[in-house]
Amino acid sequence: MKKIIIIGGGIAGLSAGIFAQLNGFETEILEKHHTIGGECTGWDRNGYHIDGCIHWLVGTKEGTALRKLWDRVGALDGVKIYHPESFMAVEYEEKTVHFYRDLDLLKNSWIEISPDDKGAIEEFCNDIKKLHTFEVPSGKPLDLMNIMEKAKFFFSMRNVGPVINKYNKITIGELADRFEDPALKHAIGTFMPEGNYSALPIVFALGTFTGGQSSIPIGGSKKLALRMQDRYLKLGGTIKTSTEVKKLEIENGQVKQVRTKNGELFSGDYFIAACDAKVLYEGLLNGDYPDPEFEKRFNNPEDYPLASNIYVGIGYHDEIKDIPRTLKFNVDELGIKQNNKPVEFLQMTHYNYEPDFAPEGNTVITFAINQYEPELEKWESLAKDKEAYNQEKNKIRVAIISAMENRFPDMKDKLEVLDVATPQTYQRYCNAYKGAFMGFWPTIQGKELNHTGNINGLDNTWLSGQWLQPPGGLPTALITGKDTIMRICKREKLDFKV
Ligand SMILES: Cc1cc2nc3c(=O)[nH]c(=O)nc-3n(C[C@H](O)[C@H](O)[C@H](O)COP(=O)(O)OP(=O)(O)OC[C@H]3O[C@@H](n4cnc5c(N)ncnc54)[C@H](O)[C@@H]3O)c2cc1C
Repeated sequence: MKKIIIIGGGIAGLSAGIFAQLNGFETEILEKHHTIGGECTGWDRNGYHIDGCIHWLVGTKEGTALRKLWDRVGALDGVKIYHPESFMAVEYEEKTVHFYRDLDLLKNSWIEISPDDKGAIEEFCNDIKKLHTFEVPSGKPLDLMNIMEKAKFFFSMRNVGPVINKYNKITIGELADRFEDPALKHAIGTFMPEGNYSALPIVFALGTFTGGQSSIPIGGSKKLALRMQDRYLKLGGTIKTSTEVKKLEIENGQVKQVRTKNGELFSGDYFIAACDAKVLYEGLLNGDYPDPEFEKRFNNPEDYPLASNIYVGIGYHDEIKDIPRTLKFNVDELGIKQNNKPVEFLQMTHYNYEPDFAPEGNTVITFAINQYEPELEKWESLAKDKEAYNQEKNKIRVAIISAMENRFPDMKDKLEVLDVATPQTYQRYCNAYKGAFMGFWPTIQGKELNHTGNINGLDNTWLSGQWLQPPGGLPTALITGKDTIMRICKREKLDFKV
């Protein structure tokens, strides 16, 4: 039996492990952290559970190919799915713009806000509707398809292609400018940062959400990862946690073994780096096997930006009944920067539908403040000075509580900061370059990447995970993990079993 060593126990590593076991390989996952899941995680603080990942999961809809894949890896076994009424609500002055799940409701509520924008709203909603028939490709990857399969695949994309082209060519700001009403402009324009970020993500997010394809598995991110771990172990896989791989040892174009931080060696026939791309190319491979596609992207952060988060967990000593699950509200100067400008609004998510996330009668709330360059670099240097780093975190604690009390005076004296994670938290726990929580973000100039994970000059080793198909996300991790095993099966002349 051939052996596969998998570096990283995130969703991609677990997916690769499960599909490898299903196809008759012996596998071992080596994970740096003391627990699996990678960025798909959550943690406990003061009797609360802070979910650190899933705001929405594409592939929850029964009967879709992606849902079948999630089921195959045990991610959604016996799990209830929560379907929030809105993706998010965005406040602007006296108005609230709801991104409802029901697309007609969304359309009518927006027309009510701004009858003058009827034409632009209808065009936007019609385009979103065109994505309702679209399913994220999760079968064979393109490089393994024959000509007929490729023709069928491109034919299946015929309705979606024009929508992708249309929104890929304009920035989020240009899309927002098609609307007259300042509240609609703000709701759309703040979906992505200002600058050359493409408008495509908003259309995709709303396409899958209003088409019923993305919702939230009850129990959250950590439990989803643990269910996959369970499936993997039941199939006979092995996991070694607190085991950081530092080097790939290579002979004649083949990796022979990996060396860990504490000097252990693990040999195999195949190796999968289900970890950060930068860690693989510059760390484990010491820069000796560069990939031009990744070099181009890492060297051009303007067109290929990375993003991370300040992620704040709050315990609220009461129940929440009448606030949308995710709400964006404007704030006065907080002393926090985002995209090199003072933060002007906060995005808050509460978990009143998850009774196990908080002591009875209480609710857990999270805030995600996206960070880009130059903030990512600032966090990198702050982390070198523990006192300054902690001071910055304290400043954020105070700012968030004050902003909440301003917006929700009834919450005064009932709020407790549970935790502040920064981009450096993701770097420290997940080895995520600059704390990136997805792959490169889509911009107008940036070219889409659809990488096979092949490493030039090595024929038994692949990269897998969110970096292969930016902007990444959990479905990409799941699919690329499976795809890597399909490639290994092809090499072994085995029929791949899903
Ligand atoms: C706050 C937040 C919110 C998010 N929300 C969503 C969402 O709503 N929906 C969605 O689809 N996605 C979301 N994502 C993105 C999603 O979590 C990631 O895209 C996905 O988990 C990436 O999985 P991965 O396996 O490719 O990589 P990772 O999760 O990064 O896993 C890599 C693993 O490799 C390990 N590792 C790294 N280097 C080594 C080494 N040298 N040796 C051993 N182990 C190593 C790491 O510790 C880690 O466990 C969110 C992410 C964050 C942080």
